[in-house]
Amino acid sequence: MKTGTCRCDNRIFFDNHTCVSCEASLGRCTVCDSLTSFTQRKNRLRCDTCEVQAYPCINQEHGICQCYNAKPGQLCVWCAYTRVIPPLDQPESIQRWSRMESAKRRLLLQLKDLGLPPFVGDTAEEYPLLFEFREDSVDENGNPQKVITGHQNGLITINLKEADSVHRETLRVQLGEPQRTLIGHMRHEVGHYIDWSWAMRVAKGRYHELFGDPDAIDYSEAMKRHYESGPPADWADQHVSAYATMHPWEDFAETVNVYLDIMAIATTSNALAGKKLDLSADADHRKLVQAVLKIVIEVSEYNLDLGLLPLLPEQLSPAVLDKLAFIHELRSAKKAEPVA
Ligand SMILES: [Zn+2]
Ligand SMILES: [Zn+2]
Ligand SMILES: [Zn+2]
Ligand SMILES: [Zn+2]
Repeated sequence: MKTGTCRCDNRIFFDNHTCVSCEASLGRCTVCDSLTSFTQRKNRLRCDTCEVQAYPCINQEHGICQCYNAKPGQLCVWCAYTRVIPPLDQPESIQRWSRMESAKRRLLLQLKDLGLPPFVGDTAEEYPLLFEFREDSVDENGNPQKVITGHQNGLITINLKEADSVHRETLRVQLGEPQRTLIGHMRHEVGHYIDWSWAMRVAKGRYHELFGDPDAIDYSEAMKRHYESGPPADWADQHVSAYATMHPWEDFAETVNVYLDIMAIATTSNALAGKKLDLSADADHRKLVQAVLKIVIEVSEYNLDLGLLPLLPEQLSPAVLDKLAFIHELRSAKKAEPVA
């Protein structure tokens, strides 16, 4: 993640709220789009970067957000992407919601940096992206209403329980996943959104060549088969994860997830380690992946020293590298005529 600079020259990290050195209020100014410090003068708060008078996003009242707007009493641009929030009478739900919003903000800022939908051209208007964070509940007849995490027509639904680390780790072990994180969920689901809103319109032919034709494979049958018989033994030759073998849609979403992981590592490495990796849409993606893999090997060793998981557990076969290069190319794709 990119960092910012406090008025005292201290570095500001994504989740910081107060400067540990000068105690300034820190946050994201949505006017100048920077991670910055704010100065309080006579009941007024001013952004130290663009000097605009700043007002907290109304979700700061719940400790959810770190953004400041030019007008009072408003949600920030990032919080406005959430359509449904959990009931606010349970402190535990608010904590979980806060983790969701933080991961969502991380995701959206990254997409904006990369120029991937919803920020490309008029995609945002034609194919709006929204989030809802819901809890399992019971209806009026006493029937359990389970929330399924997924994407449909631009709406990403995430079960609030996923923000609970015990629940997530239990599922991770049960499903044999190498890692299961909130940001990973966000990146996977937005992969479905990019598939639906962008990839199928601008590069359908190449998509079919790499991932297969999603319309030719019945999704529910594919899911049944996957959970009954598991992935093929040689799945890693062609796919980035075992789950990706289930259906072309899941293959695409899993690939987007790993593409965004790789780009996040590269961005952080530029911000913190002074690397000068070219992250633009025109960059040679294979070179970039090689540079990131060097970082991954090194940081994974630190992680393993402490008994943590490797930084990026996925194996990237030549076929997977082709798929990742395709996701990279989508960033510079031109808008095609809408598919009839
Ligand atoms: Zn400071
Ligand atoms: Zn500003
Ligand atoms: Zn906000
Ligand atoms: Zn999926």
